Amino acid sequence: MSTGSVQGWSRLSQAETALAALVDHDLVSIRCRQLKFQFGGGRSALRTRPYGEAGAVHTGETFAGVYRVGDKYLPEAFERMNYVLRDFRTEEVFPMDPRILDILSLLYERLDASESYQVLSGYRSPKTNAMLRGEGTGVARNSFHMYGQAIDIRIPGQNTKIVRNTALDLRAGGVGYYPRSNFVHVDTGKVRSW
Ligand SMILES: [Zn+2]
Repeated sequence: MSTGSVQGWSRLSQAETALAALVDHDLVSIRCRQLKFQFGGGRSALRTRPYGEAGAVHTGETFAGVYRVGDKYLPEAFERMNYVLRDFRTEEVFPMDPRILDILSLLYERLDASESYQVLSGYRSPKTNAMLRGEGTGVARNSFHMYGQAIDIRIPGQNTKIVRNTALDLRAGGVGYYPRSNFVHVDTGKVRSW
């Protein structure tokens, strides 16, 4: 802000001055990123058992809101997201990698979606990962889910294959497609697909 402009603002109200200061610092163009998702949720989601996990019950808990303003990730939003995305079998909460949430947010924008994401798997403790591996379900030994760097999703009303293709176009990390269980895996690892 130059000294010259400060003088001109002396006639403005406090609120106007504050707004002008924001404009002066380009803060008004700061971009908010938001997300909405539900852990499991919906009858079809509950009927589908990804990885063949018998009797898996998702919580149906939700997050909806802004989680990032400009380059600042909002701690309150992460507290809630980390909780909803926890390992629901062991009740372990793990800090999710903000980049995976950025990927989901960008993907959502590209798809021009309106429904909440249905999350089929977020954080997975080593214990749960080993258990799922034991069921011979194709779960990776060193899964990105164990580091809070992967999420399995679908969006009601969106063709999952299109969700997969759009995720591939982002070239932001790994993308796995599971047509039989109707979901897409995204992670923050190297760009690759299966
Ligand atoms: Zn996954």
